[in-house]
Amino acid sequence: MAFKQTSYRDTWAEVNLNHIKSNVEKAKAHFKQKMHLMAVVKADGYGHGAVKTAEAALQAGAAFLGVALLEEAIELRETGIEAPILVLGRTRPEDSQLAAEQDIRLTVFQESWLVEAEKHLSSKNKLHIHIKVDTGMGRIGIVSKEDLVSFANVLKSCEKIETEGLFTHFATADEKNSSYFQKQYHRFLNMLEAAADNIGDLSYIHCGNSAAGLRFPDKCFNMFRFGISMYGLTPSEEILDEIPFPLKQAFSLHSRIVQIKKLLPGESISYGATYTTIDEEWIATIPIGYADGWYRYHSTYGGEVLVNGQRAPIVGRICMDQMMIKLPEYTPIGTKVSLIGEQDNESITVLEAANRIHTITYEIPCMISKRVPRIYVGG
Ligand SMILES: *Cc1c(COP(=O)(O)O)cnc(C)c1O
Repeated sequence: MAFKQTSYRDTWAEVNLNHIKSNVEKAKAHFKQKMHLMAVVKADGYGHGAVKTAEAALQAGAAFLGVALLEEAIELRETGIEAPILVLGRTRPEDSQLAAEQDIRLTVFQESWLVEAEKHLSSKNKLHIHIKVDTGMGRIGIVSKEDLVSFANVLKSCEKIETEGLFTHFATADEKNSSYFQKQYHRFLNMLEAAADNIGDLSYIHCGNSAAGLRFPDKCFNMFRFGISMYGLTPSEEILDEIPFPLKQAFSLHSRIVQIKKLLPGESISYGATYTTIDEEWIATIPIGYADGWYRYHSTYGGEVLVNGQRAPIVGRICMDQMMIKLPEYTPIGTKVSLIGEQDNESITVLEAANRIHTITYEIPCMISKRVPRIYVGG
């Protein structure tokens, strides 16, 4: 699953581990209460590389790791990471023994799951679980107080399962209007009452994703699930003014010119011949395309790149492995091209790239495929 380290191509993503560390340190300092920070490194660390990101976050003070899938947790264990890991999605009960052996915490919210898992678990290693309650996300979790009480009763008879935490997830924490967030928060408080009466002490209670933690630190109990903003990205543009400290973007994307040519007026570029030169124009070819996760929409919606600190437009359709840009002058082969990142005083942020193709910051680094090597700086 890890990103390839050897590569023979002139395209790479750079991940600044010092930026990740700085974001983790600043986030921890932002809470008044004692806060256990869970670094969320699912989907290969949102496309940054899970192992390197996890190591940097742990060094900077994260106490826990969060992933979506059991295999993602196992990948971290295989590289020797010993920190506690929680799988945030549903794992099959028949795989609970594997999780217990590897000291991986699972998210649980079904009585039938408990019964089934007890059959697969050995008495040697107890399985630690975090109970998920659904307060309005409508995705996974126990929906009602009655169901939580009933779940707690089944849990009492489970000898191989130990409850370590209880959590929920917000649907709108990144929206300016916080009324739905407040509604979910109050439902969560209500669920916690039932948990206190029926489950007893819990080591970890958590609800905050990046947006909730950064905006409402006093509503995050004792654990913060830090995902998108650990990578230095805003959960949404509308809450940019509420981010309490400057986030440092860790991800940038670069390539190099592989061909440069001067075309006469009236020559067309790429599939469909959708772009035609007006004057004599300098056109350069860049070896990155939609199979690298650089979607065709970047050309549809007027995408730009940086060359020598200046913006240059993408011209013609983005191909599977290559695309073309228009430059103001002759520029040598090998010149660095930044699709995301900084050059001199110009920058193209992940947010700009996301807005351009009408998506969210999360998708941009996740989309950049495995064939683009990740190069790490700092750490
Ligand atoms: C992905 C995820 C997070 C992290 O959310 P961000 O918005 O990236 O901070 C937190 N909790 C759960 C359950 C998740 O699935």
